[in-house]
Amino acid sequence: MKVYINKPLCTGCQHCKDVCPVAVFELRDRGDVANVNVDGAPAEMEWKQVVEKDVYSKWKDVQDGHNHFAEKNDGTSGGISVGVNGEACILCQACLIQCEGECIHIIDDSGTEYKSIYS
Ligand code: SF4
Ligand code: SF4
Repeated sequence: MKVYINKPLCTGCQHCKDVCPVAVFELRDRGDVANVNVDGAPAEMEWKQVVEKDVYSKWKDVQDGHNHFAEKNDGTSGGISVGVNGEACILCQACLIQCEGECIHIIDDSGTEYKSIYS
């Protein structure tokens, strides 16, 4: 399985990491561009330190206990998600329904793509 994030859409909510049973995700500093762009996302989904404006407007003021768009992760949220261990994914789909930015992409071995839809 290949798992990557459309980085400009990621709020840093950490839901993906919290629900994944096999530790596919890590939250990394937004300034650490080289270590954020390592999950094989297509060029248009790579992190260039610019958040997509619609997702920013939607989540920047939401008070749900998560630090949206924070530079660094504090253990509960913040930073930006990276699919560091996609090979371990068992396609439970837990992350796909929890992703605020609707920015997780999973490609299975047959090439079928699964995308997150926030619910
Ligand atoms: S679908 Fe894969 S990456 Fe997502 S939570 Fe389940 S095992 Fe983790
Ligand atoms: S759940 Fe989605 S928006 Fe939240 S940190 Fe993970 S990839 Fe980013």
